[in-house]
Amino acid sequence: MAAGRSSLARGRMVVNEAMCKGCELCTIVCPYGLISMDTHYNAKGYRPAKLIDPESRCTGCTLCAMICPDAVITVFRHVKVHSHAKPKPRIVTA
Ligand code: SF4
Ligand code: SF4
Repeated sequence: MAAGRSSLARGRMVVNEAMCKGCELCTIVCPYGLISMDTHYNAKGYRPAKLIDPESRCTGCTLCAMICPDAVITVFRHVKVHSHAKPKPRIVTA
C-alpha cells in the first residue's frame, strides 16, 4: 500500500436463504451480534439467518461462514482506501 494511506476492511455476509436450516450457530459466533433469524420461513420450514448491519460493522471475518454446517453463507470483503495527503495550501489575502 502506498505511503500516507490506510485501509479499513469491511464486509458483508449473504445467506442462501433457501438452504439455511435455521440452526442459529452463525448468530452465536458473530463478534458483533450482527446476525439474526428472519421472521419468515423458507421452503424447508426454517427461519433463515440474515445480516442486520445498519452501521456497517461487519468486518468480513468469515467466522459465520466457517461455523455454518451447511456452508450456505458467503462473505464479501471490501477495502476502503483513505488518502491522507496533505491539504493544498490556501491563499490568504488581507
Ligand atoms: S463476517 Fe464476521 S463480522 Fe461479519 S457477520 Fe460474519 S461473523 Fe459477523
Ligand atoms: S449457521 Fe448456516 S444453517 Fe445455521 S442458521 Fe446460520 S446460515 Fe443457517
